[in-house]
Amino acid sequence: MPVQSVTDILLTHWHNDHSAGTAELKAISNCTIYCQNEEAPYFEKKPNSKIRQLAEYIPERGILVLFKGLLGEVVPRNVKIDQLLSDGDTILNDFIVLESPGHTPGHISFYDKKSGTLFAGDALAVIQQKLRLMAGVVTPDKPASITSILKLFKDRDINIICPGHREPLIENTKPEIARFIRYIQEMKRWPLLG
Ligand SMILES: [Zn+2]
Repeated sequence: MPVQSVTDILLTHWHNDHSAGTAELKAISNCTIYCQNEEAPYFEKKPNSKIRQLAEYIPERGILVLFKGLLGEVVPRNVKIDQLLSDGDTILNDFIVLESPGHTPGHISFYDKKSGTLFAGDALAVIQQKLRLMAGVVTPDKPASITSILKLFKDRDINIICPGHREPLIENTKPEIARFIRYIQEMKRWPLLG
């Protein structure tokens, strides 16, 4: 699909490793940009160039990419948000907006009713077909993160989970969700690497 034909970009949160190319894509395609209303100011902040320079030394792949998102502090080019979203909004006919704070205050996930796909962003992780928490160091609000995860799963028919990093969860999704809910309800403290 040519870049020019992109019509909509749904941003889960402002971190550079998720949104850095948004301004360029908008310039090429004139697509509509969506994000949660509290997250919007981060797309228009002035950059701290020293911190940004440091972020540029971090590779795009591997676990360190999470720190790249945080160190970059703001997106490289300001992004004009076209449509502000709130919890429960339905956009593009099928996508339900689910506020899922914890990783960032205005983090959102999207649930596609038709296919039963949850686009979780950085609300959680999937590693080798297992659900995981995000690393503690990139989860500034851990209680909110737990509440968000439980909310994402509650009363929802989910067949596929697409996280913001690595591969989607496609095998035995429902039993894996049940296992993960039990795990986070019983865990005593946040595991170092999630
Ligand atoms: Zn992130």
